[in-house]
Amino acid sequence: MFCNQCQETAKNTGCTINGVCGKKEKTSDLHDLLVFACQGLALATTEARKKGIKTDVESRHIIHCLFMTITNANFDDRAIIKAINDCLSYKENLKNKVNIPSIHESVSWSASSENEFYEKAKQTGTLTFDKNEDVRSLKQYVLFGLKGMAAYAEHASNLGFEDQEIFDFIEQALIMITKPSSVEGMLQWLMHTGEYGVKVMALLDKANTSAFGNPEITKVSTGTSNNPGILVSGHDLKDLEELLIQSEGQGIDIYTHSEMLPAHAYPGLKKYRHLRGNYGNAWHRQQDEFESFNGPVLFTTNCLIPPRKTSIYNNRVFTTGPSGMPEWKYINKRLPNGQKDFSEIIELARKCPPPKPLEDGELTIGFAHNQVLNLAGKILEAINNGTIRKMIVMSGCDGRMKSREYYTEFAAKLPKDTVILTSGCAKYRYNKLNLGDINGIPRVLDAGQCNDSYSWAFVALKLKEILGLDDINKLPLEFNIAWYEQKAIIVHLALLFLGFKNTRIGPTLPGFMTPNVLKIIQEKFGVQTITSVEKDLSMVLA
Ligand code: SF4
Ligand code: SF4
Repeated sequence: MFCNQCQETAKNTGCTINGVCGKKEKTSDLHDLLVFACQGLALATTEARKKGIKTDVESRHIIHCLFMTITNANFDDRAIIKAINDCLSYKENLKNKVNIPSIHESVSWSASSENEFYEKAKQTGTLTFDKNEDVRSLKQYVLFGLKGMAAYAEHASNLGFEDQEIFDFIEQALIMITKPSSVEGMLQWLMHTGEYGVKVMALLDKANTSAFGNPEITKVSTGTSNNPGILVSGHDLKDLEELLIQSEGQGIDIYTHSEMLPAHAYPGLKKYRHLRGNYGNAWHRQQDEFESFNGPVLFTTNCLIPPRKTSIYNNRVFTTGPSGMPEWKYINKRLPNGQKDFSEIIELARKCPPPKPLEDGELTIGFAHNQVLNLAGKILEAINNGTIRKMIVMSGCDGRMKSREYYTEFAAKLPKDTVILTSGCAKYRYNKLNLGDINGIPRVLDAGQCNDSYSWAFVALKLKEILGLDDINKLPLEFNIAWYEQKAIIVHLALLFLGFKNTRIGPTLPGFMTPNVLKIIQEKFGVQTITSVEKDLSMVLA
């Protein structure tokens, strides 16, 4: 086992025994084999398309597989083995129609027994990507970006929005990883990955807003009712919508958890009166919060934590989509109308006691680009008259490391003439601090999920245009981003592609970067990591 894809990687170099995330050695190896199987399938789809054969189903499977390998998404060996088997079947089917040049072992590799899978899995993985450690590091960088891109592409696809160019890029990049390359060549691939990161986030934004309308400023209750509840976590808005439709009028309330909080701001979802509020905090507090919730929990995507041995909630947690945990039930069945069948969860909820209250407050959300641009006049006036000195983008992920307390302290100590622009679950570090407002503009503007970081790039580009600036870096905007997993990598690569310089990422720099790669990235883009709150505050406010 070797995995270095997330911020919690052991000693910031790589997990080699068990994952810090709880991923077992065999599961980690299977994730690597799944990527390998996707490479073989990508070589087949690319050839098939040249001959005019449609490969949408296979491309969808590739993004689904990559999504499954994201940190904290899928811990279930059976599901991963099934996904590998499906890659092999799709590939064989295409091989019967078109000649696939055997330029990589993944084209010819096949196996049928689980043992063969586990054996092969030990020989695959990112350490095999290249002998040159810098090229290997950059290939890992691209692959992790692709995983984030695949996640966003799958959410968009679930809502009926797909872009063949994005499928093509993901598959070409998977093939590229199988070939020799140079540091210079890889840097170009890295920028292309950022470019497609912008495209996929724009696509998902279009999918979400077309399906559910533009997010509106919304107050979300953090309290509970006396009805039984279902808690929905993860990022997939389509799953949430289907659950809301099926549970309407049944005396059950639906609560969001962690990254599902932004759902409350969409008109097409907030219209359901039983979408009651948000329960709890970021993903890493789930082991306690699921216990006190009392009712069923549905994971639509990551971030899952393997349950404790003493866990009392295993029989009431369900997964769907790319997520999986051997101890929990997976929802895959569909109703005749095409929706996922959530009846088992709804039935179970009826028999459960209501959630135990954790708090009784309110969160204000819904500041995605459309809403912020409505406020653009007010914001520009405040910038011009000095009431807003700086805007700090503090998007990204949250995690369990103690060092992340930095973000709470940083937010609390920012002067009152600064505004925090946030998205992703990083917000839970400071969204309950009551930081106040500046002439009616809240000091924490929450755009939504991590993909909604696109909103901040969009707003910045608009402000640059309105102010007639020749360089986006002249805006009174700073980036202090907390990263954890691979969606944060694609978001950050998108920012680099758009020309944002001197972004801060933390709490540590990625462990997959070699010293040379880090030097190149720092010289080219001015990327820095966090130091101390005081030092960073003085730099940011300078
Ligand atoms: S996902 Fe992160 S914590 Fe889990 S095994 Fe990989 S590097 Fe380690
Ligand atoms: S922002 Fe990142 S860490 Fe947070 S729930 Fe989403 S995927 Fe997980």
